[in-house]
Amino acid sequence: MNCVTQITFNLNILLTFGKLFRLMEMIRIFWESILGTLNWTLNSILFQLPWYKNYFWGLILISILAWGLEITFPWRKKQGLFRKDFWLDGFYMFFNFFLFSIVISGFYEVLQFMFSEVGLTSKSLVLFDLSTLPETIQLIVFFIILDFVQWVTHILLHKIPILWQFHKIHHSVKEMGFAAHLRYHWMENLLYKPLKTFGVMILGGFEPDQAYIIHFIAITIGHLNHSNIKLSWGPLKYLLNNPIMHLHHHAFEIPKGKIGVNFGISLSVWDYLFKTNHIPNTDGDLKLGFPGDENLPNNFFKQLHYGFKKTNR
Ligand SMILES: [Zn+2]
Ligand SMILES: [Zn+2]
Repeated sequence: MNCVTQITFNLNILLTFGKLFRLMEMIRIFWESILGTLNWTLNSILFQLPWYKNYFWGLILISILAWGLEITFPWRKKQGLFRKDFWLDGFYMFFNFFLFSIVISGFYEVLQFMFSEVGLTSKSLVLFDLSTLPETIQLIVFFIILDFVQWVTHILLHKIPILWQFHKIHHSVKEMGFAAHLRYHWMENLLYKPLKTFGVMILGGFEPDQAYIIHFIAITIGHLNHSNIKLSWGPLKYLLNNPIMHLHHHAFEIPKGKIGVNFGISLSVWDYLFKTNHIPNTDGDLKLGFPGDENLPNNFFKQLHYGFKKTNR
């Protein structure tokens, strides 16, 4: 073996070791993140976390409150307490919020590792540096930016046909109730999470210490938006999303030529600003769903792989 061949051979061995080391590092990050999230979820269930950071029992409490409001002040009086797909949606709530987030946390950490390798860090896209602002302002700006990013994401789910295939699961709700909030295909987690991170990156990778307040407010508004209660927030309706507005987002019939209306998540202001608002009436007895929704599988396991097959829009 001559000198040049020997050097090339050694370099190849080094490169192979480098690749192997990188792969092992990624596997380590993946598992550590999954175990961390699993641990965090178990601690929540066992009350080992401060009550104000306990998403597990927090979600249950918010659900009981929303259900209590539906029972006490029902908008659609004929709708049963255990409406169509009540249990399916209840299961989705825990699946999307906990089970799936345990798995996705691993992928998410690996993705961040790969981004950092190409020099893209949380400081690369800073538009607003939150850290210098008072805590309350930090929380408000954080809430607004994140909500806007999610509003854009939601429009993409309606606009891009392959994404709409997955979003159909959320729109397959035929009788609306609070738990329908978290009936969505697991692929939506894959889309929302990186875009949410993009929102955080705009803020310099900064998530305020008390961001859990914002997350709980967002979950509560989301639950209310899907509840069977006639709540408009009065003059605040131009700012806050509400059950009336969101019910029309789920309407079977949408205005001609539009891909959808009322895309708001927590805030309605983006729809009013960008003229995607539409509330033709406040009856509550709307036909929900979308053309062709009868072809959608009605059980969770079949819905898991729905959207990957080529179907018509
Ligand atoms: Zn939608
Ligand atoms: Zn919805």
